[in-house]
Amino acid sequence: MQAIDDKTIVKDYFNSKGFDRWRRIYGDGDDISKVQLDIRNGHQKTIDRVLSWLREDGNIAELSVFDAGCGVGSLSIPLAKAGATVYASDISEKMVGEAKERAEKSLPDTSKLILETHDLETVEGKYHTVICLDVLIHYPPKELEQMLGHLASLAESRLILSFAPFTVCLMLLKKVGELFPGPSKTTRAYMHHKFDIIDILEQKGFIIKRKEMIGTRFYFSYLLEAVRKNS
Ligand code: SAH
Repeated sequence: MQAIDDKTIVKDYFNSKGFDRWRRIYGDGDDISKVQLDIRNGHQKTIDRVLSWLREDGNIAELSVFDAGCGVGSLSIPLAKAGATVYASDISEKMVGEAKERAEKSLPDTSKLILETHDLETVEGKYHTVICLDVLIHYPPKELEQMLGHLASLAESRLILSFAPFTVCLMLLKKVGELFPGPSKTTRAYMHHKFDIIDILEQKGFIIKRKEMIGTRFYFSYLLEAVRKNS
């Protein structure tokens, strides 16, 4: 039952104050604090790294991609612009609404980007590449097996994930953060042990191809690309 509780909390958050906070962080306006600006820059590094990995492979225009928990389209929009066929969904209708507005403004042809409100756990279909960035931080480790299992089942060839890695430093930061609840507080943030994630992916038939720790002062994300053993 915990899964439903976590999901409901996350969905409500990203349809209310989380929407307002993250829409601004994932934007380009100057109505944000220094900490939020640092998080914006860190997140952009994650997006840029994923795009550079895909560009290195030289076949973006041939890819079908599922962007799970797409937020305001920070990755989906440039990916569609680069020629990929992108199916993107998010549990929050507000985030999807914002993504649609941004896509209308910046994509000459929106037919390459299908945006829907949907939780990633019940999405169906097959995609060459499944990408899930900065979503797992909202779920406790015991949800990982099921969430990653489902994402893996949608991925024909590749899965790209980012998550907050469990480290002593981050644990201390989080503890300090918990002492000072304030208006900028987010939902509970869960860190994950990278070997737990890698273990699950290996059990599902994937091997790790590329990985990178991306960090700024307040943003920490471990990015990894897993490919099917037989692809
Ligand atoms: N991946 C995007 C957004 C990250 S913010 C990016 O990197 O820019 C996390 C997003 O995950 C939020 O928009 C939130 O609504 C979404 N989310 C959280 N749980 C989800 C779930 N179970 N299914 C689909 N989306 C989810």
